[in-house]
Amino acid sequence: MVILSGAVVSGLAEQLHRSRQREITRRKEAEATSSQNQLLCDALKIGIAEREKAEKLRVGENRILEMVAGNSSLEDALADLVQLIESQEPGTLCSILLLAADGVHIRRGIAPSLPTAFLDALDGMAIGPCAGACGTAMHRREPVVVSDVFVDPLVADYRDLAATHGLRACWSTPILSHEGQVLGSFAMYYREVHSPNVAEVQLIDLATHIARIAIEHKNAEERIHYMADHDALTGLATRTVLRDRVQQAIAQAHRNDCMVAMLFIDLDNFKHINDSLGHRIGDHLLQETADRLTRSLREGDSVARIGGDEFVIVLPALTEAAAAARAAAKVVAALAQPFAINDHELHVSGSVGISLYPANGADVDSLMRAADSAMYHAKEKGRSNYQFFTPRLNQAVQRQQAIANGLRQALARGDFLLHYQPQVDFESGRIVSAEALLRWRQPGTDPIRSSEFIPVAEETGLILPIGEWALREACKQLKRWRTAGHPDLRIAVNLSVRQFHQTGLEEMTAHILEASGLPAMALDLEITESLLMLKNPENLSTMEGLVNMGVELSLDDFGTGYSSLAYLQRFPIHGLKIDQSFVNGIGRDDRDTAIVTAILAMAQSLHLKVIAEGVETAGQEAFLKTHGCQAAQGYYYSAPVAAEAFAAMLERAAA
Ligand code: C2E
Ligand code: MG
Ligand code: MG
Repeated sequence: MVILSGAVVSGLAEQLHRSRQREITRRKEAEATSSQNQLLCDALKIGIAEREKAEKLRVGENRILEMVAGNSSLEDALADLVQLIESQEPGTLCSILLLAADGVHIRRGIAPSLPTAFLDALDGMAIGPCAGACGTAMHRREPVVVSDVFVDPLVADYRDLAATHGLRACWSTPILSHEGQVLGSFAMYYREVHSPNVAEVQLIDLATHIARIAIEHKNAEERIHYMADHDALTGLATRTVLRDRVQQAIAQAHRNDCMVAMLFIDLDNFKHINDSLGHRIGDHLLQETADRLTRSLREGDSVARIGGDEFVIVLPALTEAAAAARAAAKVVAALAQPFAINDHELHVSGSVGISLYPANGADVDSLMRAADSAMYHAKEKGRSNYQFFTPRLNQAVQRQQAIANGLRQALARGDFLLHYQPQVDFESGRIVSAEALLRWRQPGTDPIRSSEFIPVAEETGLILPIGEWALREACKQLKRWRTAGHPDLRIAVNLSVRQFHQTGLEEMTAHILEASGLPAMALDLEITESLLMLKNPENLSTMEGLVNMGVELSLDDFGTGYSSLAYLQRFPIHGLKIDQSFVNGIGRDDRDTAIVTAILAMAQSLHLKVIAEGVETAGQEAFLKTHGCQAAQGYYYSAPVAAEAFAAMLERAAA
C-alpha cells in the first residue's frame, strides 16, 4: 500500500483530473469536428481514401491514449505516435526527443524510422540558440522550420550530419507541459526541400498535444512512485521500501547461507531540541542525520526513516556479526560529532540496536522488534553506543574484537610461535615432514586456541602479516633441521584463502625459500577446498606459478567441502589430507568409514598422495594402511610440539 500525505495526493489527483477533463472535452470537440468533417467531406465528395485516413488517425489517437493510461512504457506509446503521424504523410520521418531532467540536455528520443546513428549523435547534446532544429526549438520554446538544411544558417553545424543521413528539411516544435515547461520536441524530417502546409501543421499540433499528455502522465506516475518510496523530508527510503529490501535480503541470505543485520537507530536528544529550538531546526537536524547515515553506508546497504527520529539501516549478505558491530560503531561515531545548524552547535548522539537474521528472527517484523529492543538496551547503557539483541551475542562479538586487538599487539611484540606435528610415512615408518601450526603465547591468561584466533585473523586481514611470519619461521626452522642431519625432511605450512589471494604470493614464497636456503620441493602449502570453489581464474595461475617453482600443494581438511573430482583434475594438486572428522569415525561410523575408503580409492585413480589427519589409534592406522593411505599425522604419533621437542623426536627416531 502506497501512503502519501493528503495534500500531495489531492494535488496530484486534481492535476490528473483536470488533464483528463480537458482531454474529454477535446475529444468531444474532436469527435464533433470529425463528424462535421465527415459531412463536409461527403458534401465535397473528397475521396474515400481521405476519410479512411482521418478515421485511422482517430483510432490511432485513441489507441495511444489507452496505452498511456495503461501499462505501456512511454517509449512504446511515443513510438506508436511517431508511426501514426508518418503513416498520415508518406515520405515524412518523425522524431520525438525528450529533455533530460536537468532541462538543458537532450536525452535519447524516439524515432523508429530515422537511422540510429543519427539519433545517437543527438543523444546528450545541449540545447541552445543554435543547436539544430530540435535543440533550438526547445531552447526558444517555439517551432523552428528549416525548409532547406543546406542553406539555413541555424543548422550550419548540423549540415554534414543531416547530409550523411540524407535529410534535407526539418521542422521541430517544442512539446510544452500545461505549465509551460519544455518536455521535449516533435520533429518532422524530409529528404527534399520542404515547407509545411496546413494539413502538416495540423498533424504537428496533434502530435505535440498527444506527446504532451503521454509525457506528463508518465512523469506524474514516476513522481507518485518516488514520493511513495521516499520520505519527503530526508529523501530516504520509507518503511514500505524498507520492508521490501529486508525481505529481499532475507531471501538472498537464506540462499547463500549468510546473515542480514538490521540497525535500529534512535537519536538521543532529538525531542528536547525539537521542543526547545523549534521544528525548523529539528527538520534540519533530521536531514543532516540522514546525510551522515547515508555517508556511513557501503554499497548495497540501505537506510530508511521509519518515524520521527528513528532510522533503520539494513546490511545484507554478512558473513560475520562483527561486520554489523563495525557498521554500528561507525554510525555512533558519526552521530556523536556536533551538528552545526543555523548558528547552533547541537550535540545529538545516537543509540543503535542490532538484530541479525537468522539468529534473532526470520521475518521483517521480528527483526524489527529485536533491533528495537536492543536499541532500548543501548539507551539504558548510557546512550551513544550500540547493543546486539542477545547478551550472549554481544559478548561473543566483544570477545572477537578483543582478540583482534590482542592479535595486533601480539604481532608487534613477537608473541607468536610455531608448533610442529610429525607426518609419518607408512612405508618407511619414518617422520618425513612436519606441519607447522601457529600458537599464540599468552603468559598469565587462559590461552586462546588457534581455532578461535585464526578465523579472527582471517576476518581482519591480520592473517597476511602473521601468515608471512609463519612461512618464514617454518622455513628457517626446517633449514636448521636439514642441516642438523635430516636432509630430506619437508615442511607443511597452512595458507588461508585470504593469503592465497594476496598479490605477490609467489614472489614472497620464492624470496622466503631463497633466504632460508631451501629447495622449493621441501615446502608443502596446505590450502582448502573452498579455494577451488571460487570461480577465480587467477587462482589457477597462482597455483601453477607455485607448482612451477617446485612447491607442492595439498588440499587440507579434504571431505568437508565439495570433494569434487572435477576440481581435483582441474588444479595442480599433489596430495589430499583426509579431514580428521572422518578418520575419527573409522570403524565406529559406517558413513565415515565409507567416505575414507572412497577418498582413498579416488586418490589412487588420480595418482594423488593421501595423508590422514587426526589419527589417534592403532586401529585407525591399520585401516588406513590396508586401504592404500600413504601417510598419517595425529596424536597417535605426537601432538604438535615446540621446535626443540620436535628435534628430540627426530633424533630418537634416527637412533
Ligand atoms: P589443520 O591444518 O587441519 O591442522 C590440524 C589441526 O588438527 C591442528 O589444530 C592440530 O593440532 C589438530 N590435530 C592434530 N592431530 C590431532 C589428533 O590426533 N586429534 C585431534 N582431535 N586433533 C588433532 P590447530 O593447531 O588448532 O589448528 C587449527 C587450524 O588452524 C589448522 O587446521 C589450520 O587450518 C589453521 N592454522 C594453524 N596454523 C596456521 C597457520 O600458520 N596459518 C594459517 N593460515 N592457518 C593455520
Ligand atoms: Mg593443515
Ligand atoms: Mg586439516
